[in-house]
Amino acid sequence: MSGGMRRLDRSSRQEADEPAGDSYRDAEVTALLERHRLPVREVPFARQIFVNRNLRLDKIDVVGFDMDYTLAMYHLRQLEELAFRMTTRRMIDHLGYPEVLAGLAYDPDFVIRGLVVDKQAGNIFKMDRHNHCGRAYHGKRVLPYEEVKRLYREEKIHLSLPRFAWIDTLFALPEACLFAEIIECLEGRGERVPYAKLYDDIRNSIDTVHRDDTLKQIVKADLPRFLVKDLELGPALHKLRSGGKKLFLLTNSFADYTEAVMSFILDGVLPEYPSWKNYFDVILTGAQKPGWFSEERPVLQLSARGEVLGPAAALERGVVYQGGSLHAFERLGGIGGDRVLYVGDHIYGDILRSRKSSLWRTCMIVPELEAELAWLEKSSPSLEEMARLEELRARLDDEISVRKAGLNALDRRLERDARDPATRTQVEAERREMKHELEQLRRAVRDADARVRELERAVELGFNKYWGLTFKEGNENSRFGEQIEDYACIYTSRVSNFVFYSPMQYLRALRAAMPHERLMLRMAPYGEEHAPPAAGARPSKTRGTGADESVPPG
Ligand SMILES: [Mg+2]
Repeated sequence: MSGGMRRLDRSSRQEADEPAGDSYRDAEVTALLERHRLPVREVPFARQIFVNRNLRLDKIDVVGFDMDYTLAMYHLRQLEELAFRMTTRRMIDHLGYPEVLAGLAYDPDFVIRGLVVDKQAGNIFKMDRHNHCGRAYHGKRVLPYEEVKRLYREEKIHLSLPRFAWIDTLFALPEACLFAEIIECLEGRGERVPYAKLYDDIRNSIDTVHRDDTLKQIVKADLPRFLVKDLELGPALHKLRSGGKKLFLLTNSFADYTEAVMSFILDGVLPEYPSWKNYFDVILTGAQKPGWFSEERPVLQLSARGEVLGPAAALERGVVYQGGSLHAFERLGGIGGDRVLYVGDHIYGDILRSRKSSLWRTCMIVPELEAELAWLEKSSPSLEEMARLEELRARLDDEISVRKAGLNALDRRLERDARDPATRTQVEAERREMKHELEQLRRAVRDADARVRELERAVELGFNKYWGLTFKEGNENSRFGEQIEDYACIYTSRVSNFVFYSPMQYLRALRAAMPHERLMLRMAPYGEEHAPPAAGARPSKTRGTGADESVPPG
């Protein structure tokens, strides 16, 4: 347990009563540091591993991976468009929707992870970390501010209500897009749309398309069109293995589809691993996460042809298993506790459920990071100008406060000394001067504000014209961003980013700073190593500044 580890660290520190040596100053040590850091500096910012809670990879014995959207990266637009088309077709053919829907176009910009569908009012909106509704659309039209206020700002939004659907998987993007497009299309023709029924029809149709295997058959028939072959994935997995870690695959996909996808992305990439199966110590398919983490089901052994042979008595390399549960898996595999790192892309199915039921540490795969970080890097002149203007605005505000207080004082003097004409003239001149300055300062604030808004709009809408940035809403983190911070120990854009790090790397998070610490040098800049807080317990939100939050590569 990491709790025990921390006590060990503390006591070893306390034992060191003799005065500290200064070997850390040695020129040789400095030279070692310089030499060692060089290759790691080259990790592109967008491909770094970001750390919410300290994680020592040398204390991780087992690394597990989800497959879809985690190990297997899809050409999202291709796959989403396919799901969109097949679902629309099904709704026309089986549920009596008008043929005109066949002409709808899939608009990939309109849907991002972290949106909320209001099935009752037919709206889609984005929330900040306080569950405050920000941008909102009805169909594809911006929802007027008055409507947003009436519907979402007068009472707290409870996402647990059946009225709302949270779009938190990449898998769910087409259904949100279809919901908006159909409302836009049918209402444009003057039809009344029963929103909740429409959403249920979309969900059921999309589920059928996935369940009856028609979609997966098309994907399997043309893997290069739908799957990204990331040539660094094999080397990244090999690096973890060479660090002594056992790897396992835990996917909801069934054995035949898993075989097709995994062979395509990994077979023959490295000569030491002719088959994808060589990378993994345990392969578990058809897992039915999130239930897998809490329910009790036997692990079934499959034959080489994929037939169920019966309950497994042990977990062997090279064999494909199906179903099971966390409990059965940990018992049979003799693995568990906080020495397991689980890597997945779904906050609820992979990350939150595993955190609630097990001690597994978690890594979330967030492919959205790459495009967003690249865009922010490109926008750095605007971001710098915004930061300068925010500073300037704070100073202008201070000066305005001083002038306002000064004017009050002069007004009181005028009342008091009203009868002396000489004083009166002098005070009035002072007052005019101060008033003039105040007006200048106020104009500067207005213009600075307007410029900040202009820059912010350009940065946000230049990235996505409907929703702005994925991880931000208004002046806050988006709810999606907040959930990544709350539930994942570490997060990164793709699994192959592990290739940039040592399998023994200590991934450090900055200690949360209190407001009084933020502007000065902090004692203990990095956090203590401890088990992640229980799911739902929100760690402190105040952290250090900007770019420092990323992992110091080393
Ligand atoms: Mg997945």
